[in-house]
Amino acid sequence: MALQSLRGTADLLPDELTRWSALEQTARRLAGLYGYRELRTPLIEDAALFLRSVGETTDIVQKEMFRFQDRGGQEIALRPEGTAPVVRAYLQHHLDKIQGVAKLFYAGPMFRAERPQAGRFRQFHQYGAEAIGSASPWMDVEIITLCLDVLRACGVTRTTLWLMSMGCRKDQERSAAQLRERLAPLRAKLCRECQARFDKNVFRTLDCKNPRCHELAWGAMPNGQSPFVLCEECRAHVDTVRLGLRGAGIAFDDTRTFARGLDYYTRTVFEVRAEGLGAQDAVAAGGRYDHLVEEFGGPSVGAVGFAAGVERVLMAQQAAGTALPAPGRGGVYLAVTRAPLVAEGFHFVDALRKAGVPAAMDLDGKSFKAQLREADKSGYRFLAILGEDEVTQRAMTVKDLEQGSQDLVSFDTFVATMAGRLKAAA
Ligand code: ATP
Ligand code: MG
Repeated sequence: MALQSLRGTADLLPDELTRWSALEQTARRLAGLYGYRELRTPLIEDAALFLRSVGETTDIVQKEMFRFQDRGGQEIALRPEGTAPVVRAYLQHHLDKIQGVAKLFYAGPMFRAERPQAGRFRQFHQYGAEAIGSASPWMDVEIITLCLDVLRACGVTRTTLWLMSMGCRKDQERSAAQLRERLAPLRAKLCRECQARFDKNVFRTLDCKNPRCHELAWGAMPNGQSPFVLCEECRAHVDTVRLGLRGAGIAFDDTRTFARGLDYYTRTVFEVRAEGLGAQDAVAAGGRYDHLVEEFGGPSVGAVGFAAGVERVLMAQQAAGTALPAPGRGGVYLAVTRAPLVAEGFHFVDALRKAGVPAAMDLDGKSFKAQLREADKSGYRFLAILGEDEVTQRAMTVKDLEQGSQDLVSFDTFVATMAGRLKAAA
C-alpha cells in the first residue's frame, strides 16, 4: 500500500487551506487591533518546560505528550500547548524589561497523542493570545472579548461562554484540602490513577476521563456546591470580570463548574463551546496564570490568555453554514494557439506576475481546447489568447470569463490594462 499520513494528522490541500488561512488572518488582524503582536516559538522544547507548567499529574503530560530523547539523551517534547513556550520566550528575551504588559499572539500546530476521533487530532492547530504582566480583571475581559470577536468574525456566533474562578493558590490549597476530605471515604472507588494523584493533585479527579471518578469527585460537594472556595479578593476579581463582560454585551454562564486540564491556572478560567459539534464542542479555552512567570524564574506578575482550536472553529463555521465564500475569479490565464508561441506568451505572463497580477499558462504543449478548459476550471477571471493573428496585430484577444465579454488589447498596454481591470473587479 502506498504510504499514508499518520492517524490523527491531516494534509491540508489547497482548497481547504484557503479557509484555514482566512481564519488565521482574521485572528491575526483582530489580535493586532487589540495590540497583540505575533511571535513564533519552536515546535520542540525541553520536556521539563511542560512538566513544570502544565503539570506532571495532568493527562496532557502523563498520557498525551509526544516525548523522545535526542541523540545526546536530552528529553524533548513536541509542544502540546502554546502558553508555556510563550512564557519561556518572554523571559528568555527579557520582554518583561521592555514593556509593562507583553501582549502576544501565536498560531501554529500543537501535538497530543490522543485517540483520534471527530474534532480530536494528534497534530492540531491553535491560535491564541497571552497578556503577560497584568493582574487586572479587565485584562481577563479583554482576552475573552478578543477570543469571542475572532469567533464572531468567523461566523461562529452560537456559542456558550463558561466562566468560573478557581481562586488563588491559597484558595486552591484550601479547596484541595476540602475536596480531599470529602473524597477520602470514596478513595477506594476511584480509578488507580486518581488514587495515585489523590494526594498530589486532587483536582485531577474533577477532570478524569473515567466517568465514575468524575461523578464521585463532582458529587463529593454538598448540594452541587463548587469545589473551589474563593477568598474576598478572588471574589472581587471575578465580580469585576462579570461586570466587564456584561458591559461588553457578552453573555456567560457562571453556574457551571468545570475543570481545566492544566495545572497553571489561577482565578479566572473559561471555555467557549459551540453548537453543532457533538462531543468535542470546546472551541476555545483559557484563563489566568498568575504564578507561571515567577515559577519560570521571572518576576511575580499576573498573566492571562486563551487558545482556540482551528479545526474545531472551522467545524463550527461549517455547522453554522457560515464558511467564508469561495474566492471569486481572479488573474489571467494566457493560452497560445501553437506551441512555439510559448516563448512570447511566457514573456507576457512573467511581466504580469512582476506587476503583481496572478497569471499562468500551460508549458507542456496541451491542446488549445485543454488550455481553455484549464483557464475556466482553475478559476481565472480573464483568458488572454495569443495566436498568429494576435502576433500580426500586436494585440491580445482578451475574454472576461465572468462577464462573457471579449476585446482586443494592444501588446504595449496589455499588462497595465489587465492590472487595471482586475483592480476594478476587486
Ligand atoms: P478537550 O476537553 O476537548 O480535550 P482541552 O481542554 O484538552 O480540550 P485545551 O488544552 O484547553 O483543550 O486547548 C484549547 C483548545 O484546543 C480546545 O478548546 C480545542 O478547541 C483545541 N484542542 C485541544 N486538544 C485538541 C485535539 N487533540 N484536537 C483538536 N483540537 C484540540
Ligand atoms: Mg484534552
